[in-house]
Amino acid sequence: MLKLSRITKSYAGVIVLRDIDLSIPRGRVMVVIGASGSGKSTLIRMANGLILPDRGTVEFMGEQVTAATALALRRRMGYLIQEGGLFPHLTAHDNVALMPSRLGWSLDRIDTRLFELLDLVRLPKAALARYPSQLSGGERQRVALIRALMLDPELLLLDEPLGALDPLIRYELQADLKALFASLGKTVLMVTHDLGEAGFFADEIVLLHQGAIAQQGPMAALLEAPASPYVARFVRAQRGLAGSLVRPPP
Ligand code: ADP
Ligand code: MG
Repeated sequence: MLKLSRITKSYAGVIVLRDIDLSIPRGRVMVVIGASGSGKSTLIRMANGLILPDRGTVEFMGEQVTAATALALRRRMGYLIQEGGLFPHLTAHDNVALMPSRLGWSLDRIDTRLFELLDLVRLPKAALARYPSQLSGGERQRVALIRALMLDPELLLLDEPLGALDPLIRYELQADLKALFASLGKTVLMVTHDLGEAGFFADEIVLLHQGAIAQQGPMAALLEAPASPYVARFVRAQRGLAGSLVRPPP
């Protein structure tokens, strides 16, 4: 479905991604995790051609993502970022209707699709009349999710989609998103910096460190067989935090 081969990217001589090879089969959920600045967003933006690699290739459903093909291929990928990225001067309705109406969908067709998705992402219809600033953080992400799903994309690219939400809302949306992935059978590439969240969603986890893959595999392998001292430290740091909540130090 999505294949990155020997991707390298630098900015002003500084390497941001180094020799990345990744392949996501159809219907699988891959979660990219790593510290801030490790290259997660650059990687996800490369999948949809918002950033092009210096070296290496990105293939989506057998077609190479290039400057010439990115625009068309991007319509078959839903993209969702941390703050939602909604246009502030458009209502929620107009935000989600923008792309389909640009593609010539009738108002009827747009509304039919929209009402399906309202149910799926559990957003009350009344929210559609509001501007992004009049929505809660959770509602904003639900609107942004509808926008990402409008064209029924084959691939979902989610860059810390729940990162800006408070814990309770985040917990609810995690459950909703996971149910949605399962029911739609979408292929998903998701970024988070939270190991617990990664484990909750992922079929496979990719841990990035300074632009390179430090370890790739199922959650259990990261926990039980860390590939390097860095992986062990990364896991310990995140586990320590969760562990200290349930188990007081002796
Ligand atoms: P992450 O999402 O993991 O926090 P990013 O992919 O956003 O990391 O960034 C990786 C590194 O690349 C960071 O050091 C960042 O400062 C740098 N970087 C990202 N985009 C640019 C850019 N357009 N110009 C220069 N440096 C950039
Ligand atoms: Mg990022």
